[in-house]
Amino acid sequence: MSVPEVIAIDGPAASGKSTIGKKLADELGFLFFDTGVMYRAVTWAALSAGADLNDEAEITRLAETVIIDILPPSRADGRNCDIILDGTDITWDIRRAEVDRNVSLVSAYPGVRLALTTQQRRIGLRGKVVMVGRDIGTAVMPEASLKIYLTASTEERARRRYLEQRQRGGQASFSEVLADIHERDQIDSTRAIAPLRPASDAVILDTDGMDVDQAFIKACALVCKTKN
Ligand code: C5P
Repeated sequence: MSVPEVIAIDGPAASGKSTIGKKLADELGFLFFDTGVMYRAVTWAALSAGADLNDEAEITRLAETVIIDILPPSRADGRNCDIILDGTDITWDIRRAEVDRNVSLVSAYPGVRLALTTQQRRIGLRGKVVMVGRDIGTAVMPEASLKIYLTASTEERARRRYLEQRQRGGQASFSEVLADIHERDQIDSTRAIAPLRPASDAVILDTDGMDVDQAFIKACALVCKTKN
């Protein structure tokens, strides 16, 4: 079977991009690259350095200088990979609520996007990759032969994220998670550079009412139908 060399999966927060993307990558023997971790890593770097998140120039400088490594998982604690920032393992730190609350502000800065998308594109051009984010099909890898835009209602996505956070010991209430997702989607889809939206040739996959296996089967069917 001929499969697309680059599969782009975009969509709003908690739409299942990482779960489906990782399963697809494993199935195809491709690299799974979740670009959101890079924006999260810069946000975490800024928070832990006590930087002013409203200072665009300072945050941009940080994005240009930090070294973010994405390595195979060193532990079986539910992680897809290790996220290393300047030598420190920040895999779970980047999932904290303070990162969720601030990442969309940081990722709207044009200089931050330029620094990170340049690295993302370099990795994407090697091929055999499932790339997940908000702007993969529209900005990072517009030449991807399969672009999936994964979505679901805000309530459904908040429910999934809430259950996920509870399992990891998170304390946020459902209404806090819902409000956070709503706000992030709003900022991500209205920013000036590379806003969240489906590429004109993306296939929209609405996973409301589907479980992971059902969504995965649909995604596999799209892979089978796509030619390079
Ligand atoms: O996918 P995830 O929720 O981890 O992404 C965190 C944030 O990173 C998003 O809300 C968005 O602001 C930003 N992001 C982005 N472009 C991407 C991936 C993520 O702007 N390609």
